[in-house]
Amino acid sequence: MAWQNRTKIVATLGPASNTASMIAQLVRAGVDVFRLNCAHADQETLRRTIKTIRDVAEEEGCAVGILADLQGPKIRVGKLKGAEPIYLKRGAEVVIDATPGVIGEAATSGGPIQIGTGYRNLARDVRPKERILLDDGNLELRVVNVEGDRIHTRVVYGGMLHQFKGINLPGSKVSTSCLSSKDLADLAVVLDAGVDFVALSFVRSPGDVVQLRGHIQKRKGDALIVAKIERPEAVACLPEILAVADVLMVARGDMGVEMGPAAVPPVQKRIIAMCNEARKPVITATQMLESMVLNPRPTRAEASDVANAIYDGTSAVMLSAETASGRNPVRSVRTMEQIIRTAEKSCYTGMAERMRRRVTGNSSVSVAQATVRAAAYAAYEAQVRLIAVYTETGTTANLLAGERPPTHIMAFTPSVRTMQRLALTWGITASKIPPKRTSHELTVAGDRILRSEGWVRKGDRIVQIAGTVRETGLTNTMTIREL
Ligand code: PEP
Repeated sequence: MAWQNRTKIVATLGPASNTASMIAQLVRAGVDVFRLNCAHADQETLRRTIKTIRDVAEEEGCAVGILADLQGPKIRVGKLKGAEPIYLKRGAEVVIDATPGVIGEAATSGGPIQIGTGYRNLARDVRPKERILLDDGNLELRVVNVEGDRIHTRVVYGGMLHQFKGINLPGSKVSTSCLSSKDLADLAVVLDAGVDFVALSFVRSPGDVVQLRGHIQKRKGDALIVAKIERPEAVACLPEILAVADVLMVARGDMGVEMGPAAVPPVQKRIIAMCNEARKPVITATQMLESMVLNPRPTRAEASDVANAIYDGTSAVMLSAETASGRNPVRSVRTMEQIIRTAEKSCYTGMAERMRRRVTGNSSVSVAQATVRAAAYAAYEAQVRLIAVYTETGTTANLLAGERPPTHIMAFTPSVRTMQRLALTWGITASKIPPKRTSHELTVAGDRILRSEGWVRKGDRIVQIAGTVRETGLTNTMTIREL
């Protein structure tokens, strides 16, 4: 059997990739979950792209997950006069005017440079001496004073400012709600179109996640919530956010701006370790193969970065501009896939060792947890070909993935939704099985799929995990069988 990567790939779709033929090529190259960035797509494009992904997945005969990433309270520079960029010179005075409709313009006759923003509360949220970062932190302003809606600042690090660039307030408390009216309108569209995951940007507290969950439930949606960790307030209450979210994303782009690049590696390691412990998926995002936006090959540092996220234990790695707007979307996915394969093969023994260390005995584990641990251990000791797990909601499959077993995991489920959700879970391939009444029927049907799809041959050993059929949450059986 060919090597099957365990770490999943999330690829962002955009103008370079959101056609049926590109989506099909990306799936074949190894994408497990497509991300739609609501900050850059109108609602018609969101609807059309979701339908295209589902159509392609059906044609390709695979379960692909869809993640809609809500923009959240992203603050932006407003329009600039004539859409012309303005040069911000070190030491120059810049006034940010939050009055609606202000159009930015360069200094005229000795006056200050003026820029507008769509964020009404900006003047209330900042204080003198605080920093305001523009364009991903490439430009820096220092607040001098605030008068009504006008914030007077001086340029600390200058450069060209283009319209609509992001504004970050690293030291300030942003008072706006986590969900804007645009987010709620986008949420309605993506839930109606049936996405599997909704990502919430700039989460500050568990309350933000709970608020989104309320909106999803109100619309009778069942999408899982990905909390994007990028603000220092969120890093300060990670356990509480993890308790209410389904997945965390290490959103390294804005995190690097908000907290400084040096803070990113330790926070990444902490978030991944916490998610692994909680048996929840975690996505490591942003600038993983950034140079491939333009170039056909990644830098050595980027290859190392992807591999190190895998060694940290991430469930998935994400591509942003590389696949959304870059020159080499398919090549970027293929490169990611190669780095994952090489890293996983190289740390294979390490994974098995980690798994062995985890099987330590802990009286508080559930029957299901003990069963999957026994299965992971047996898979290691008995050198089996794979672990087959029968799962309705995906809970057992997630528990098993959390043990990081040394063999591939095949999850059988009657639910297409569960298959799509498992697209984000480490080490799992999901396969549809018709609902069965007895575990014997499940075994026969599962074995048939494993054989016909070439996962196993006669004489192979497999580990099988199941539970009491027709009741979820009762995983209690682990068997080792020779086919
Ligand atoms: C990030 O900041 O790393 C991120 C993933 O969010 P976005 O792409 O929306 O900026």
